[in-house]
Amino acid sequence: MLRPALVALLFSTAAWCQSVGIFLEFDSTPSRAAVEAMKHEVDQLLRPSGVSLKWRLAADNRGSESFANLVLLKFQGKCRADAWTAGLAPRSTRTLGTSKVVNGQVLPFSEVRCDAVKQALSYVRPEADGVERQKALGLAMGRVAAHELYHVLANATAHAVLGLARAAESLDDLVSARPAFFSAETVEAIRKALR
Ligand SMILES: [Zn+2]
Repeated sequence: MLRPALVALLFSTAAWCQSVGIFLEFDSTPSRAAVEAMKHEVDQLLRPSGVSLKWRLAADNRGSESFANLVLLKFQGKCRADAWTAGLAPRSTRTLGTSKVVNGQVLPFSEVRCDAVKQALSYVRPEADGVERQKALGLAMGRVAAHELYHVLANATAHAVLGLARAAESLDDLVSARPAFFSAETVEAIRKALR
């Protein structure tokens, strides 16, 4: 009795998929390894919401492609891991990313602040080599970007109680090997808003 229901569920999940064009803009040339790791992380985090991301560079946009949804994702500061420096990041709260809100509506313009996100690297093991550090930075950039994309795609200014859509994220969680996730409620909020 369970099998037909399962098949139907799989079919309906596979049949519904929204493509979202993400146009990237960088203040300064980022680390390629960090950008690849960032894309991979965001793709993974948004897949359960039925979102298929099409990554593009804003500078390459000729307006020849059309997407159901578009987001301009800007990276401010230097998205490149520097040499390791001793000491943990300050415990004060800093803004890692923002999205534009006008009259209660979240507009498709998000920003990730790399110089603030980079502080998470103080939680990467000191022996980590250059590639590992760039990948860790990419993971952190991806988690912050995914949080901002939640606001835009769900058109939500509020935060969730659980998961990556919470109001604050600790810096060590941004580079943690423990997978980040959106709660079931957040996944549903994104799906509902895109439908
Ligand atoms: Zn937020």
